Amino acid sequence: MRESWDTLINRALELASERTDAAELLTFYAKLLGAQKEIYGQLRNREDWLPSGELAADLPVIRLTLPTLLEVARTSGPAPLAEEAHRLEPASDTEIDEMLLEYWRAPTDLHFFAKALLQPYARWLAESGATPLDRGLERRENRCPFCAGKPQLALLDAEEPSSDAGTRSLLCSTCLTVWPFKRVLCANCGEERPAKLAYFHTPEYDHARIEACDSCQHYIKAIDLTKFGLAAPLVDEMAAAPLDLWARERGWKKIELNLVGL
Ligand SMILES: [Zn+2]
Ligand SMILES: [Zn+2]
Repeated sequence: MRESWDTLINRALELASERTDAAELLTFYAKLLGAQKEIYGQLRNREDWLPSGELAADLPVIRLTLPTLLEVARTSGPAPLAEEAHRLEPASDTEIDEMLLEYWRAPTDLHFFAKALLQPYARWLAESGATPLDRGLERRENRCPFCAGKPQLALLDAEEPSSDAGTRSLLCSTCLTVWPFKRVLCANCGEERPAKLAYFHTPEYDHARIEACDSCQHYIKAIDLTKFGLAAPLVDEMAAAPLDLWARERGWKKIELNLVGL
């Protein structure tokens, strides 16, 4: 289950008009999603080409899409991103390749350009039936079963008729795959004791909540689709930015920052 780029873009525009406190973030995110949609289209519609799954081999094609991302960062991004885009523009192929390979093999949520560029690539990789061959990340329950990426957020979904509780899933920060995950379990360290796991929620963001773990001091945000089925999780997670500030003040670290660095 992955939302179309247009669904994400429209939701970002809708929330930007509703939430004045996050309007700037969401307006930028809508433009960024527009660039990602275009990058995805460039990869998907390229004649006689399918991703091999080996990033090193796919780089000559991926590299061609970087200007689309740099342009949106330069013209619509916050000042630090605009500066970084300016700095990257004259970068050599080798420098760009190194940046992308480094992110692929040792991902960090601080590398905006690599993460934003490789999301549409990894998504197309998953959708086209390829297998990531040169990522080499550890396989764990709390990592994406397709690409081993970290979870960007958690999802709470409607109850299945056969079960007595709703289901929880995680959404991959790299390829946007959604995979099922136990309901009471820290998505960072695997803590299962309910007394160590805490949930915070405010009526202002009714379908979002903070899921925090006292054992590892990490948190993730969850989007509750049983409360609002029209949410686009990636976007609604970002719109609830004040919850991140609140969690950070309490000393919790987010498992994976989103693309606007929150
Ligand atoms: Zn993934
Ligand atoms: Zn934990």
